[in-house]
Amino acid sequence: MEKFEIMEKDEHEQIIFCSNKDAGLRAIIAIHNTSLGPAFGGTRMWNYNSVDDALKDVLKLSKTMTYKAAVTGLNYGGGNAVILGDSNTQKSELLFRTFGKYVNSLAGRYYTAEDVGTTVDDMEFVRMETKYVTGISKALGGSGDPSPVTAYGVFVGIKACAKAKWGNDSLENKKIVIQGVGQVGKNLAEYLESSGAKVYVTDIYAEKIENVLKTVNAEVIKPDKIFNMDMDIFSPCALGGVINDDTIGKLKCEIIAGSANNQLEDEEKHGKILFDKGILYAPDYVINAGGLINVANELEGYRQDRALKQADKIYDNLTKVIKNSKEQNIPTCKASAQIAEKRLSQIGGMKNIFTNKSR
Ligand code: NAD
Repeated sequence: MEKFEIMEKDEHEQIIFCSNKDAGLRAIIAIHNTSLGPAFGGTRMWNYNSVDDALKDVLKLSKTMTYKAAVTGLNYGGGNAVILGDSNTQKSELLFRTFGKYVNSLAGRYYTAEDVGTTVDDMEFVRMETKYVTGISKALGGSGDPSPVTAYGVFVGIKACAKAKWGNDSLENKKIVIQGVGQVGKNLAEYLESSGAKVYVTDIYAEKIENVLKTVNAEVIKPDKIFNMDMDIFSPCALGGVINDDTIGKLKCEIIAGSANNQLEDEEKHGKILFDKGILYAPDYVINAGGLINVANELEGYRQDRALKQADKIYDNLTKVIKNSKEQNIPTCKASAQIAEKRLSQIGGMKNIFTNKSR
């Protein structure tokens, strides 16, 4: 597709390609929508197969951030960044500081934070060049790793789904499979175990499994075996696109609720199939908003107790989405998009009462 058509398709406001040979930097920043406030969204570092794949990812992630902020009731817009490269071998201070200069050049239209492949330490290099970064360490006055609050939000979201599906939100003896026990998945496993669930974990890296087994008495399954087993809840906490044409027919669960962004490869198609099959899908950007809540709190002087209290609201937000889905007989992802779009058009398009101009 031609570049402007790509932007117009989902109404992206701006795409910035960043390149610096000396720093080994190739990055893309996408700003989707700033009608509710400055764009917020993490920086993903990933070894993409092509620039087109990276562009596709950043466009999708930035749009999701717009919807996430809108449905969560935050006054932020949606943006995201991707750095093309191997996060295990290609990170350096120069790379992240150079990237930070690009973020700074946007003068507050976009705030970044860590995402898959980047860490609090990386964001501290970005912070040396710009104040428009969150998720920096507590020692430097930041909020640190957002994953514990994300995991807590996913946990309360899972309980909201259980209540809608089974009439009460107890997870006692429920078979829950977590795909990906990285920063979010590990914390989530701890919450689930303490609530009496039977926790199963899978990851492509052995050390992640070893790490989670230090604190959680979970059963380990091989990554390619998750679609063969019966479970009550599937919790995708790895990467996006896990619900696709190949996997959707094999899934044997009643609820899908996890932290990964863009879990449905094709939201409309796969959201409808899940709805028709009676599988309750918790829209990813509703249930994983704890991370955004956490980093947004940093701008107001961070307090984790306040962030966790705000993340509690994910229970109510999801309950409302599920209720609308049932009442209108539409997939949950459609119901959540409606709520987000209504707020974007009403509040995002709100007229300033003094100037009569849009904000
Ligand atoms: P992470 O990189 O720490 O963890 C992801 C884990 O998934 C890794 O351990 C990785 O080895 C594993 N993995 C990758 N592919 C896999 C596969 N095919 N099968 C099994 N395991 C696989 O990332 P994270 O911070 O825990 O985030 C997890 C997901 O949640 C991501 O999609 C991220 O975008 C999303 N998310 C995270 C936050 C946050 O606060 N960290 C907030 C919102 C959304």
